[in-house]
This record gives sequence, structure tokens and C-alpha cells, in this order.
Amino acid sequence: MNDGEPAMVSVDEHLAAILAAVRPVAPLTVPTADAAGSTLAAPACAAIDLPPFDNSAMDGFAVRFADVANATAEAPARLRVVADLPAGTADDPPFAAGEAVRIMTGSALPTAADAIVPFEDTAGGLADSLDEIAVTRAPRAVGVHIRRRGEDTRAGDPVLPAGAVLGPLQLGALAAAGIANVRVASRPRVAVVSTGSELVGPGAPLERGQIPESNGILLAALIAETGALVVRRAVVDDEGTALAALLEAVTSEAGAVDVVVFTGGVSAGAYEVVRQTVTPMRFGAVAMQPGKPQGFGVIGRPDGTTLLFGLPGNPVSAAVSFEAFVRPALLALQGRAHLHRPVLRLSAATGWRTPVARRQYLPVTIDRANPGGWTVTPASSGGSHLAGRLGSAEAYAVVAAEIAAVSAGDLVDVLLLD
Ligand code: AMP
Ligand code: MG
Repeated sequence: MNDGEPAMVSVDEHLAAILAAVRPVAPLTVPTADAAGSTLAAPACAAIDLPPFDNSAMDGFAVRFADVANATAEAPARLRVVADLPAGTADDPPFAAGEAVRIMTGSALPTAADAIVPFEDTAGGLADSLDEIAVTRAPRAVGVHIRRRGEDTRAGDPVLPAGAVLGPLQLGALAAAGIANVRVASRPRVAVVSTGSELVGPGAPLERGQIPESNGILLAALIAETGALVVRRAVVDDEGTALAALLEAVTSEAGAVDVVVFTGGVSAGAYEVVRQTVTPMRFGAVAMQPGKPQGFGVIGRPDGTTLLFGLPGNPVSAAVSFEAFVRPALLALQGRAHLHRPVLRLSAATGWRTPVARRQYLPVTIDRANPGGWTVTPASSGGSHLAGRLGSAEAYAVVAAEIAAVSAGDLVDVLLLD
């Protein structure tokens, strides 16, 4: 870019430019059982009525309401038990006035029944119940303790809309509605490229000047959480040759990925290998701390596009940049309805300084001692290199650009990472 201080764009402006470049990935059909973490590409509609048939909500007796309408403990209604319906049976036993059918929760309601009397409202209980029962308490009305066919969802009705992410509750709902296969977004394919001649594998012996590479592991884990697939992780030096070859490989037809996330080498110093080599990207300053230097670009391919993200190398900067820009883009690629993490307004346990005219993302821990009033404490001084302390962070306090300082007791927006 230019030599002087480039005009900073806001976080929202930079994100909007990124999202405008997102083209959703192709959908595919998968078995519901394999769809955890996927995003629906089309509404999922119930294959059956839910429940599929009228059934009992209690263990007890299916009765004719008229037979028991006046039953009390003092004057019980006596009924002869003529059949038994465990769950799963297809029987529809007829029964006449003065008779009842023992029934278990979930069993199909006999056509002749119009109310359920739970075991608790009978004398004699379970042991005698296949002979005669005494109903000691009248059901409130016709239809009590009966779950009606389709009262939850009707066949053909949408169970979940396009854009819904399939978590455990959603998968359970789809299975209950008889949906065997779902149309979902395919998983975006992502390459993570760490740059820096100082980087060696974690645990490797360190020469003076070397450090363990950590951003690649951090970013790969964050990417996996979004439902995307990390298909390649690489560490390259600051020379440029290896980086250029890698860029070629991950954007060529054979090895094409949907997204490349680079870290390091994007600032305005010397040896900024990403800035110098990845020419389809534009680099600039975003009004945030950490994470000010950012690169973004798009490469068109015959079969799609590849989004390029150039994140700064300091570990906290890389993590925060991912939250602000890469995560929403990975979710948008999958057509997700919600692109942002949940945010709580929590009170600050202590005060801290904030940067001038830049949105702050401060790693924080959450104190849950008082259930009615969680508070947050900085996990570090905010230094973008404090990779070790990042380990204790559970969230980011996000402080608007125009706020100059946070005081103890102030309510702050807290972006939950979990
Ligand atoms: P850079 O953005 O390349 O100037 O890097 C800024 C700081 O982050 C330097 O101290 C780098 O050593 C460090 N750094 C860059 N990339 C990584 C990485 N992948 N893992 C850990 N630290 C990194
Ligand atoms: Mg570097």
C-alpha cells in the first residue's frame, strides 16, 4: 500500500467486503446420522406426522371416558382389563363399556379409547391390573394423557430451515421426523499456511532466534470447529519461493481449496513474505487491536473461487483476526443463518485501558462464582504476543473503538468462544 499511515477501515467495513466476496459452496446429500456439524442447504421437512399415531402419554389404562367420569376414591369405577399394549405392538383391541386396556407410554391408543387413566389413579396398581381395576380419580376431560397424531409436526412441514446448523438437538428432531437424508453444504476445504523463518515444529530443539510454530495448530482447530475441513497445513520460510509454489498448488485445479489462511508476513516491515508474494491480496489497516494489519483477496478458478486471508503473525492477533473475519466467512460459505458467536453483556471485575479509535478484543476469563452476575477479568495485559496466557482465555471482551477505558463494574460485550 502507500508509505504514510493508510486510512484504517473499521472491522465492520472489512468484514462486509469479505462477505460480499463469499460464494456458497456446493450442496450435497448425506445420511442424517453423518450430518453432525453440517449446515442445511435446504429446509428439512418432516417425512411423517409427529407423533405418527395417537398414543398414550402415561403408563396406565386406556378407557372410555364415560365409564370413569364420576370415579372417586370413595366410589371408584370398576373396569375389567381385557388386553395389554406394550410399546411397539400393532394391536388395536376392541373393548366395550365397563372394560379397559392396559397401555404403556408411547403405545398406540386403541380406537375405542378416548382417555387414559394413569396407574397412579387406580387402586390395585400394576400387579392386579390384568384382571380388574378400580379407577379412583376421574380424568379431567376426554382426551387427557393422549398425544395426538401430528400435534408436534405434520408430514411435509419444515422441521428446520436452510442455514440451520445440525447440532445434537437438530439431528434428534430430524431423526424423529423420519428424515433419513439431508441436503447440506459441503465442507469448505481450507489450507493453513504459517510463514516465518523463525518457526520450528512444537517440541523441536530451538536454536537462538527460533520459536515453536503455534498459529497453524490454533487456526486448524478453530477452522475445524466451523465445520470446514483443513486439507493442508504448511509452514514456509520468509524467502518467498516456497510460498509461491504453495499458493500455486492450493489454487490449481487439482489441489484447489476454497480458502487459504496465511499467518505472519503481512505488516509493513521488511521480510513481509505474504505481502510481497501473494499478489492477489490487498493489504491494509483495520481499526482493531490486536489485528491491525490484514490482507484479503479472491482468486477466481474455473470451478469456483478461493478466498485468501492474510492474518498477522502474533498469536493473539491471529486468533482474534480469525474470529472477526475468517470464521464468519467460513460460516457464510456454508450458508449458515447465524455468522456470529453469542455475545453476553457482563460486568468487568477490574478496569483496563483500551486503544484509541480501534475496537479492542481482549482475552478474558469468566468468573462464574455468582450465578446471577458473571464477571470478566483480563486473561493477559492484552499483548498480542502472549500466546501462553491465551490458553486461559474463555472469551473476548469486545470494546467499541470510541470507548477510552473500561472501569470495574462497567458492562462489556463478551464474545463467548464456547
Ligand atoms: P509477523 O506477523 O510475521 O511479523 O510475526 C509477528 C510475530 O508473531 C513474530 O514474533 C513471529 O515470530 C510470531 N509468529 C508469526 N507466525 C507465527 C506462528 N505461526 N506461530 C507462532 N508465532 C508466530
Ligand atoms: Mg514473520
